[in-house]
This record gives sequence, C-alpha cells and structure tokens, in this order.
Amino acid sequence: MTFSCSGIGVTPGIAIGEAHLLQRGFIEVSPRFVPLNQITNEIDRYRQAVANARRSLNTVEKKIPKSTWSEIASFVDTHLLMLADAALSEVPIDFIRNQSCAAEWALQLQRDALIKVFDAMDDPYLRSRKDDVDHVISQIQKFLIQKKKDEYTPDLQGRIIIAQDLAPADTILLKHQGVAGFITEGGGPMSHTAILARGLGIPALVGVHHATKILRHGERLIVDGKQGTLLATNDKSILEHYRRLIRKTEKHAASLLTLVDEPTVTLDGETARLMANIELPEDIEATRSLAADGVGLYRTEYLYMNRSNTPDEEEQYAAYRQAVEGLDGLPLTIRTLDLGADKQLDSCTQESTTCNPALGLRAIRLCLKEPKLFRPHLRAILRASALGPVKIMIPMLSNLQEVHQLKALLQETKESLSRDGLEYAADIHVGGMIEVPAAALAADAFARELDFLSIGTNDLVQYTLAIDRIDDEVNYLYDPLHPSVLKLIQMVIDAGNRHGIPVSMCGEMAGNPQYIPLLMGMGLREFSMQPGSLLEAKRVVRSLDAAALSKQVGRLMRNIDKPNALQILPQICNLYH
Ligand code: PEP
Ligand code: MG
Repeated sequence: MTFSCSGIGVTPGIAIGEAHLLQRGFIEVSPRFVPLNQITNEIDRYRQAVANARRSLNTVEKKIPKSTWSEIASFVDTHLLMLADAALSEVPIDFIRNQSCAAEWALQLQRDALIKVFDAMDDPYLRSRKDDVDHVISQIQKFLIQKKKDEYTPDLQGRIIIAQDLAPADTILLKHQGVAGFITEGGGPMSHTAILARGLGIPALVGVHHATKILRHGERLIVDGKQGTLLATNDKSILEHYRRLIRKTEKHAASLLTLVDEPTVTLDGETARLMANIELPEDIEATRSLAADGVGLYRTEYLYMNRSNTPDEEEQYAAYRQAVEGLDGLPLTIRTLDLGADKQLDSCTQESTTCNPALGLRAIRLCLKEPKLFRPHLRAILRASALGPVKIMIPMLSNLQEVHQLKALLQETKESLSRDGLEYAADIHVGGMIEVPAAALAADAFARELDFLSIGTNDLVQYTLAIDRIDDEVNYLYDPLHPSVLKLIQMVIDAGNRHGIPVSMCGEMAGNPQYIPLLMGMGLREFSMQPGSLLEAKRVVRSLDAAALSKQVGRLMRNIDKPNALQILPQICNLYH
C-alpha cells in the first residue's frame, strides 16, 4: 500500500530510505551494558542526572513570572513529583543493578514500559499526560548523555529522520552520520535546521503535521524535497520512478562540475563574487573544491553546541586557524556568536522564559551583555587574523551604539593581545549584518562606520514581515519578494555604493538561482551561500546580461509602489531555467 502526505520542501532533492523516529527531545539509544565492576558508577551517574534534572526544574520554577505563577507552577510541580516517583527514581536503578544496563539504556527501557501503559489508557486526558512523562524523562536523559550524544545515537546511515522538531544542535550532530533525509512536523524552510539540511544537500520536508504519529519506525519512505511530498511505499514501479529521478539529478550535478574553473562573469563582462557559508572548519574542503571566492559567513556558534562547557580561547583559535589556513589566502568572514532564539547552548541549563526569543537577547546583544563569553571569542578571532585575510562580521545589529561598544571592546582586546605578545591584524575589517529592518533603514549610518555590510535575508524577511522563520503555520507569508523586503535590500546596496564599501548577501536568498537575476539587477555583486549552491549560481550568473537587467530591475524598483509593478517579477526570476 502507498501512503502519501505533503509538507514544505527545504532541499530540492529526492531520498529513499527507512524511517527513523525520534521522540521529542528524546534520543533513542542503542542497548548498552556495563561490566559488573562499573555498576555502582552507573547507578551514581543515574542518580546525579536525576538530581540535575530536579535542579533545572527548580530553577525554572523560580523564574516563573508572578502573574502566571499558579497555573504554570502546578505543571512544574507535577514534573518534580514524577521525578521523585519510584518509577523514575528507582526502577531504572533496578535495571542497572539486575540487568547490568548502562544508565541511558535503563532509562530507555523504563520509558518504553511507561509509554506503553499510557498508550493503553482509555481516557484521552490521561493518555495525553504521556507527553509530561516524556518531557521529564528527556530532562534526565539530557544530563546523562550531554557529552556523549554521538556514542549513544544508533546507526543512522541511509535513514530518514522523523521528528516533531529538530534543534540546530541536533541537526549538526546528524551531520556526519550519513542521514538520507529529514521530516519534521514543525519548522520553516528558513529555520537553521532547514539551512543545515540544505547545506548537507539532504532532502528534507518541514511542516509535515502529525508525521511522528502517522509514520512507523522502519518503513520505507520517499522524500521529494522539490515537490514537498512524502510517500510511504514498497511499490516497485514508484520506487523505480524515483530512482530514475535521483539518477537525473546526479547527472545534472556532475555536469555542473565542468564550471568549477570557469570565471563568474556575465555575458556582458560583469564579475560577481560567489562565497561560501560554513558552519564548521571542515566545510572549508567543499568551499575549496567548488572554487568559492572565500567564506562570506562562518557561523561560529556551532562550535558551542552539543557540549556542557563553552570552548575556551585556545580551542576556538584552533578552529579558526584550521579555517583560515585551509582557505590559503582567500578571505574568511567570521561572524561573531549568533546564539539565542533557536540556537541555544546545552551548558545553559536554565530553560528560557523569554516570550519571543527571536526578539530577545540574541547575537550581538547577548555578546555585549556577556563579556566573559565574548572576550575569548574576540581574542581567538583576532589571533586568527594574523594568519590570513580574516574579517569580523557582527550579527543582528539594530543600533549604532552596538557598533561603538563592539569597537571599544575590540580595541581593548587588541591591547590585551599586544600586552601578551600575541599577533593580530591591526587593520582587521569589521562589517555588520543587516538583518533587522531598523538597520536597513539606517544603512547609511552603518555604512559610514563599518568596512562592509552583509544582508541577512533569513532574518530580514522574518523581522520585516513579522513571520517567525521557524513557525510552519505562518510560513506561507514568508516572502523574500515582498516589496518592503526588496526596498530594504535596495537601500542597503545603494548605501554601500554611496559610501564605497562592499555589500554582500549571505541569507538563503543569495543562493537561490531564481533570485540571482533580480539581485544582480539591483546591483548586488557579492553572494554568499551553501557550498552546494555555488556551481548552479555560477551557471546563472554566466547566463545573464547585467546591463539589461540593471535597466529592467531599476524600472521595477522605481515603480514598485505602482499597481501591477510586480508583474514583471516572474519574468525576471524565470531568466533562470
Ligand atoms: C540571515 O539571517 O540571513 C543569516 C544569514 O543568518 P542566520 O541564518 O544564521 O540567522
Ligand atoms: Mg540571521
């Protein structure tokens, strides 16, 4: 039998593989047993994890605002009672003691048993309390496997992951595990999880409602990221049809490789620079092999995830050094930490109580508030700048004051490095990401004080249109071609030109072949994108007439508020076939 459903495709590819279901926040672990002489140690580890989970819940309770205290506190109290119940505080210990289970495996056995009991309940309310049990168990698990996620994750090679949601931290863990595809119930195509999936070239769908309930672990799935469809089937002719499509895509990818050594020049001789977005230093290899002109966005925050501590200056320096040396003279744009919103640290055991994390203490705001976090980061970047052309890029600027504070901190950091006898590039370029509408509207002021600007359209669209980029319910309104967004982009490009500083774009829009003709027509010449998009982008640029586009898009932008002005957009975007 074939079953199909739809979602929002985030990577235009097809994957065929077996389903692997991940429960919310709970990682399925493989069976693991310990020798008799380690049983006491395992029991201590389990007790410690329960104690940590209790401490974490107590912290949450203390942070509940007085106005909502009674309703929310009763939830937290219930979770604390569950933690204290013998079902969680004693039974897993019996499994460790009597069956030599590792602590994580003992917890999983008890979880499976409890979930079975809840699933069998007739009363729908009681059945729904299963989610509470799962939440409390995942809290204990979080402390048990904090440092060892890799070790406990089962073999995922060729599997299609089905989850309610995947945090970027989870996705980066799956990066090297040969996962074939992702399906999530929530999330938008511009979430960091979707961006990571795209970077890996892994077909993925988000917004597949109830996926974890309707799909079964182990069944064969076909994910079509271009059409946004998902099939559960064993039908031979359907499978063969999709295998043919996969072969066609592979052939196209191979044909693009002939462009690697060709210049990125339009038909009328305009040069564009195509840079790469990377998450980890090992991404440099793809950047080099696809002949990118450098790195336009290095998302440094991924080094901080999936660990219980923060990397110190030396560890960060080693990572940035690997990247700068790997680039062998090509520019490396290191974005300072963009933590917060959907990118949280494991070491932050306190649950966020902020209502709107995307509007909260994120990115440069967080860094300026936490000098203990920021200083070693700046020192490591500055030290790497002695080894090659490194630039610093500041995310989420909304206010010139932030530039002034950053520059003062940078100056202090340079002085401290000089005192320590450590080298750095004194004239390191400092640029800013324009991803908040306020910064785009004040682009002239930022251009006056910075060495370059980079347009972060993922957030710029989110903040301009008031669309949470990770919320699938409002995703249909997420539109990079909205006239307000186009006007802001044009303002930033023009401000850069007026002040003689380079402007690039590093949001996902820059790597979308359909938007490249429009952006070239708006005067953009520097694009930073997932390495996997570089060659297709080059193909598009090489097919364009920049002068003609400039006239056509210029006319569009001058008339953008007039009725029907946008009718020309599909024609411009369709220059790409
Ligand atoms: C952006 O917002 O466009 C961007 C590149 O940053 P991130 O996706 O990491 O928020
Ligand atoms: Mg951003």
